[in-house]
Amino acid sequence: MSSSSDSFSSQTLNIGIVGFGTFGQFLAKTMIQQGHTISATSRTDYSQLCHQLGISFFRDVAAFVEADNDVILLSTSILSLSKMLKSIPFRCLKRRTLFVDVLSVKEHPRDVLLQVLPEEMDLLCTHPMFGPESGKSGWEDLVLMYDKVRVRDEATCSSFLRIFERQGCRMMQMSCEEHDRLAARSQFLTHAIGRILSETGIESTSINTKSFETLVKLKESTTNDSFDLFSGLFIHNRFAKQELMNLEHAFQMVKKKLLQTANEEQIPNKSNHQMDSC
Ligand code: NAP
Repeated sequence: MSSSSDSFSSQTLNIGIVGFGTFGQFLAKTMIQQGHTISATSRTDYSQLCHQLGISFFRDVAAFVEADNDVILLSTSILSLSKMLKSIPFRCLKRRTLFVDVLSVKEHPRDVLLQVLPEEMDLLCTHPMFGPESGKSGWEDLVLMYDKVRVRDEATCSSFLRIFERQGCRMMQMSCEEHDRLAARSQFLTHAIGRILSETGIESTSINTKSFETLVKLKESTTNDSFDLFSGLFIHNRFAKQELMNLEHAFQMVKKKLLQTANEEQIPNKSNHQMDSC
């Protein structure tokens, strides 16, 4: 193990990724660049892609679990986490392993994982607050939220966090509860507004203002993410329902104010008109 001058220690890790979809692949690329050894398993067969990337792909979950992983990184959809965990034969784990999840909600995976993981397994809950689009030119200044839920092997945990620190991420340690409270206000609201804009069918025009371009980009970036992700943000974040109600209430308030102002405008006009015609 080599030490570093930054906050986290650095050690080359064997990282097994469960769920090799968009986000799993995105993370794997940087991890490989940093010299970590990656393996993966997923519902879909990614053998060919993994072969190109120099990753061992396991169709058989038991063989994946038996491989010598320092870290098992869970990158499945929020909605499929519980079902996917049922397919993992934890008894096949040979030694203490650090389980890390990257789900965009945090209390849900923490609770489910604490229920199913053998007591000797460590658990780090994380949320990289960026994705393939926002992180395509690098991860500098992007936030990595993490909560060391049950960590005894500090060296492995530290080496995992170092991956993000090395890329220049802002490292934010906070509880899963605090994350979900804040993310309902920020991330869920962003996705909800993006989805609403998409329902309105907005498209770029020849006379876009900068603000309108921001809206079009928001619609595009949120609808590029899967609907599973969006619904997971709602179903498995207990603070999201209130935010949705706040949004609906705010919409009604704005509508009410507009209609009220329009009515007030009409009254003098009408009376002027009536005066003219007298
Ligand atoms: P996603 O739609 O949330 O998840 C896709 C992944 O879930 C794929 O690996 C897929 O496996 C797996 N999956 C879906 N349904 C499944 C099922 N029934 N059984 C087993 N596996 C299933 O899209 P994502 O963008 O790749 O996100 C993955 C995770 O990262 C999510 O938890 C998300 O909240 C989190 N995250 C995403 C971003 C982002 O910007 N995209 C950022 C931060 C965190 P197959 O590919 O094998 O079908």
